[in-house]
Amino acid sequence: MIYQENQIRQFQTVFGYNLLSEIEFFVAEPFLLVTMEDLWQKYESKFNINSEYLYFVNSLEIKDLDEDAKKFENIKSIIGFGGGQAMDVAKFLNWKTNSKLYQFPSSLSVDAVFGHRAGVREDSNVKYLGWAVPEAIYIDFDILKSCPKHLNTGGLGDVLCFYTGIFDWEYAHRIGKCEEKWAYNQSLADISKSKADNVVNNIDDVCELTDNGIQFLVDALKWGGASFHGAGWNPRHIEGVEHFFFYALESYTKKKFLHGQAVCLGVVIGCMMHQKKEDELLGIIHQAGIDIRPEAMGIEWEDVEKTLYSLKNYVIENKFHYGIANDFEVTKEFFQSVKNKVESKFNK
Ligand SMILES: [Zn+2]
Repeated sequence: MIYQENQIRQFQTVFGYNLLSEIEFFVAEPFLLVTMEDLWQKYESKFNINSEYLYFVNSLEIKDLDEDAKKFENIKSIIGFGGGQAMDVAKFLNWKTNSKLYQFPSSLSVDAVFGHRAGVREDSNVKYLGWAVPEAIYIDFDILKSCPKHLNTGGLGDVLCFYTGIFDWEYAHRIGKCEEKWAYNQSLADISKSKADNVVNNIDDVCELTDNGIQFLVDALKWGGASFHGAGWNPRHIEGVEHFFFYALESYTKKKFLHGQAVCLGVVIGCMMHQKKEDELLGIIHQAGIDIRPEAMGIEWEDVEKTLYSLKNYVIENKFHYGIANDFEVTKEFFQSVKNKVESKFNK
């Protein structure tokens, strides 16, 4: 089968300035605004909204969200405004109510807004479920540029993972361990690679958050979000060992991370396991100001080391797709080489 990008439907994105002020002219009332409390304080003056329908995200637990959804059965529209969590909760509530969804991401830190399922929690374990297709996603240059830069460049984690995802897929294919339902597909891998290449080749614009840089980043994130579904719920061409490392790190440390930071550390580690592209991508991550040293994430190198030793079992236990983590023997020397490489880049 040959996949073509235009056959995989992605969500409509609209780029522009001062987009919040248009809401009153096209969003059917009553509408629910799903956002974060700290963000609301900054943007309150932009909205003309009855506080009865203002919803601050404070839980991602399914049982809490189910309860909340019952209170909003009469709403006609939902507006999501914020980072990944606000986008996910807006998606979930949209799924549970008969409403139209309009999304306004305040940063490009993850690809959550561009995918169908909502990343929520069941007893603290992440679960991706639901179905939400927004009427449109509004990419407001003013809003994105006013948020801390490293939050937007953090979105690189959900783009650079295309490389390590494909390395894992090629690897599994080469040794005959690909899942039957997800046989290696060159056309799918090629589209992912070209999207990531576009971002890497325009990294100066992405780091400066120029209008063009934002468009390149959004274009890649859109692909990552929509093509999971578009390829038949196949994640092979968009993620692999780097996300597994991130999940394992979260599980081991019981801490929450900025998605891009932990995933980008996983990208470098995954590249080193595959012995491909590690210096190039480390350079990109460094240039983008994504500090992947453990101390920048509130953990120690020892946490990274322990996570690496347990990665193989973690991947097997969770039945993640087959890749380098299943076979790679993590040694003391390997861990030391990861540490040296990251420190020599960031400690200059
Ligand atoms: Zn991700």
